[in-house]
Amino acid sequence: MSDRTTVVGAGIAGLSAALLLSRAGLPTEVYERDPAAPDDPAPAAAHTRPGTPQSRHPHIFLGLFRRQLREHLPDVHDELLRHGAEEVALESPGAGPDQVMIAARRGLVEWALSRALDRDGVPRRHGVTVRALEVADGTVCGLRTDDAVHPADLVVDACGSRSQLARRYTATVADVECGKVYNSRFYQLAEGVPRPPTRYGSVSIVDGLGFGAALFSHDNGAFSVDIGRLPEDEELKDLRDTASFERVLALFPDFEPWLRPGAATPVSEVVPMAGLRNVLRTLSPDAPRGYVPLGDALCVTDPTFGRGASLALAQAVILARALTGTGDLPGAAVRATRETEAWLRPWFEDVVAQDTARTTLWRAAVAHQPLEGILAQLPPNPFMLLDAAQHDPELADAAGRYVSMLDTTLDTPDLRQRVGRLVPVLMAAQAAAPPPSRAQVLKALAGD
Ligand SMILES: Cc1cc2nc3c(=O)[nH]c(=O)nc-3n(C[C@H](O)[C@H](O)[C@H](O)COP(=O)(O)OP(=O)(O)OC[C@H]3O[C@@H](n4cnc5c(N)ncnc54)[C@H](O)[C@@H]3O)c2cc1C
Repeated sequence: MSDRTTVVGAGIAGLSAALLLSRAGLPTEVYERDPAAPDDPAPAAAHTRPGTPQSRHPHIFLGLFRRQLREHLPDVHDELLRHGAEEVALESPGAGPDQVMIAARRGLVEWALSRALDRDGVPRRHGVTVRALEVADGTVCGLRTDDAVHPADLVVDACGSRSQLARRYTATVADVECGKVYNSRFYQLAEGVPRPPTRYGSVSIVDGLGFGAALFSHDNGAFSVDIGRLPEDEELKDLRDTASFERVLALFPDFEPWLRPGAATPVSEVVPMAGLRNVLRTLSPDAPRGYVPLGDALCVTDPTFGRGASLALAQAVILARALTGTGDLPGAAVRATRETEAWLRPWFEDVVAQDTARTTLWRAAVAHQPLEGILAQLPPNPFMLLDAAQHDPELADAAGRYVSMLDTTLDTPDLRQRVGRLVPVLMAAQAAAPPPSRAQVLKALAGD
């Protein structure tokens, strides 16, 4: 046994796993079906590719992602900052350490990870699709591509949410709709225009009851906006039309400093993305030893919460730690996957609970049903609680830790009580700066 490790998929999960595993002393290589991204950081940051359709949508990198980069891949963290990524803290009087987001396009993060692999001499084979595993005596011994069989003792499946390997070697624990269709567009701030403020770290979010909009600040003056709607809400379908999208954006005062004439230029059309699901998988008992599902291949969560990259990097850290110095690579890999599954579960359940609450509220709002009863049952809205920092810094710190993924839950009896006391204050703040109404949005879509 030579411990040859192959990582399939060069997304954030695959690239970070390959780096950590090779640095743990395992001979590692990466197979990726897409061609390589450009070598230079500027075009690489803007690069989108067919294997990751989500690269055409905004990404936020939360406190947990940043903390793990700093702890485990500090050279990648430094490289990102050197090439225009910014660190944006959650500005709240109660915020503890690590409540800091990295504002970067996903392409820049992949570029920095790839560059570190190149520095370490880890081979990346692009334009190669892995078709199947080779298995002997219940243990992985290689993988098959279109024209060859390649020996491997451990195969990390980082093929993302549509992994064919995961379909074969894992079982679905839960598969629940996210209940949102995204419409996203990217922009570039004009030369010399300072970055306008964002409300929560690197993002500004406006929840409009039946729709939601967010503006994401990225690296080097790039930014993006998405507007989400319910999948069945055909009245908002025209958000995918660029002119209609722009008319709706003009309704959001929070975004005006970014979008005012002369401040920025759009650099993409509006891109819709539908069919998003929260999916949790588990390694099948009869999966071959040496097969390791990682990242979105094991757990997909609603992008609204921006957790995918943090979950992927955390899984890679768990795996590399488990495989360091072991004499039983496949056995340690199975134990690491089980540990990962247990670690993922509360994050997954939390996202499903939040999505269930939001879609219930949005559906009732669209159907003009009373909202009071639903509102009373909702789990606390973390962003609203960040707004409450000046009234209850402890509550804001708890909300900030949750948003940053430093704590799994915001929903303890003590916090519920504190939230209860603040509800009138928060409602008054919302009433003072209400989001655009659905009627306004429909009017803007119609071009009236
Ligand atoms: C609309 C949207 C917005 C998102 N926003 C955020 C966000 O704000 N913050 C955040 O943290 N996360 C976000 N995510 C999630 C995030 O993109 C992923 O969770 C994260 O990148 C980890 O993905 P991954 O590396 O596991 O898979 P992917 O990034 O999907 O990468 C899988 C890779 O495997 C390759 N591949 C697939 N099959 C094969 C094969 N057979 N052979 C070879 N190569 C193969 C693909 O080409 C691809 O490069 C978002 C997701 C979506 C859909």
